[in-house]
Amino acid sequence: MLSCKEATRLTEQKIFEGKLSRVKAWQLSMHLKMCDACKRYSQQSAMVEKAFRERLESTGDETVLHSEVELPGLSPEKKDAILKRLESHL
Ligand SMILES: [Zn+2]
Repeated sequence: MLSCKEATRLTEQKIFEGKLSRVKAWQLSMHLKMCDACKRYSQQSAMVEKAFRERLESTGDETVLHSEVELPGLSPEKKDAILKRLESHL
């Protein structure tokens, strides 16, 4: 069983780097089945990633990637700020 910290790290790796070994992906999915907090985090992270990708695709504005999100290794504070901003637009 992964710790929540490990699950969070794997979630970010999966979403923002787009790669996760089969074993780790399985461990993560097992954790997400049992842990609501990490599941929510995973869903939010996926939403953030999708929002940025769509904005990039629709505007071709690559600065969105560099100015708002530093990949990989986005700090939790920064991610919170991004999430709050996104939510205010929804
Ligand atoms: Zn967890």
